[in-house]
Amino acid sequence: MAGDPLNTPLMAASNFIVDPTATDGRVYSRNEGTTQWEAFESAIGQLEGGPAVSFASGMAAISAILNLLEPGASVVAPADCYQGVTAILDQRAKSHGWNVRIIATTDTPAWLEAIDGQPDLLWIESPSNPMLEVADVPSLCSYAAERGVVAAVDNTFATPLLQNPLQHGATYAVHSATKFIGGHSDLLGGVVACASSAAADELRLRRSLGGATMGALEAFLALRGLRTLPVRLARSQETAGILAERLHQHAGVVRVAYPGLSKDPGAELAARTMSGPGAVLSFETIGDPSRLDVALSRLSIIHNATSLGGVESTIERRHRLPGQEMIPPTLLRLSVGCEHPDDLWQDLTGVLDALH
Ligand SMILES: *Cc1c(COP(=O)(O)O)cnc(C)c1O
Repeated sequence: MAGDPLNTPLMAASNFIVDPTATDGRVYSRNEGTTQWEAFESAIGQLEGGPAVSFASGMAAISAILNLLEPGASVVAPADCYQGVTAILDQRAKSHGWNVRIIATTDTPAWLEAIDGQPDLLWIESPSNPMLEVADVPSLCSYAAERGVVAAVDNTFATPLLQNPLQHGATYAVHSATKFIGGHSDLLGGVVACASSAAADELRLRRSLGGATMGALEAFLALRGLRTLPVRLARSQETAGILAERLHQHAGVVRVAYPGLSKDPGAELAARTMSGPGAVLSFETIGDPSRLDVALSRLSIIHNATSLGGVESTIERRHRLPGQEMIPPTLLRLSVGCEHPDDLWQDLTGVLDALH
């Protein structure tokens, strides 16, 4: 209406005025949410194609789904997977007797066979963090749906613009909104788009009881970030393609993992199942890790920082992190931001040339 704000205003509210004669309406924001959350959830819901539920972080969203499982549950998960998920699965295997089967992301026949075993949850992540492996999301999700198996897809790397798992029969499409959706390294958030309103209601109840709600400012920033996701992602993805090609040809690089490179093992599948390969890539360098760390400390444009999906490029030698010892020691995960590709390449060649 004329005079209304164009954008959803930041709504800082824990409780609302109640009509004592009514039985519905907003009472307390942990339960009924705010118009702020609803605007963010509605945008993600439209992009993913199902009702969305926001959370305090990606891990809060993931935990809400995993908390639906009973003791003794059977879960199938990928070998290359966000380390927080692997940590919860390991823990619940011990404390709750979960039967966790780990399968390589790319081993589609093994996933299909595992679905035949009627697991309680299929956890898929594609492209995977940090090895950029591509799962056959359409085949796995449709096969699971036909057999009534619940499939959750961590869609953080793809964003809702490059892959929509619900379309293929997934029950949940999960995002860390901290990454590309927020896009500016200034918020923590998570969101799950669901195949049905019953599934969304169940998660909302978990959110009410668990209390891991998205903050008002975070919802505001996430919505603001989402508005520029298409332009940020297009720019970053194009630059990632340029850098992947140049890295692939550089003598200081042993291997590049990026589904946008024609030689990549996931390239054909990504081209067939996704609208684009995304803006994160990994590469292994020559030389020893300590020398690599020294070279990385001289970067001037790319930030030595964890996380990904921001307008600023970030790089990380994942092997350094606790629990990431299985990652090759000189593997660098690069999240490509919106800087000029030649500036980024100059920074990268500075590192690579120092390794000889
Ligand atoms: C970062 C990340 C998460 C966890 O999200 P937080 O917002 O940090 O809690 C989950 N999955 C993937 C693939 C991620 O990159």
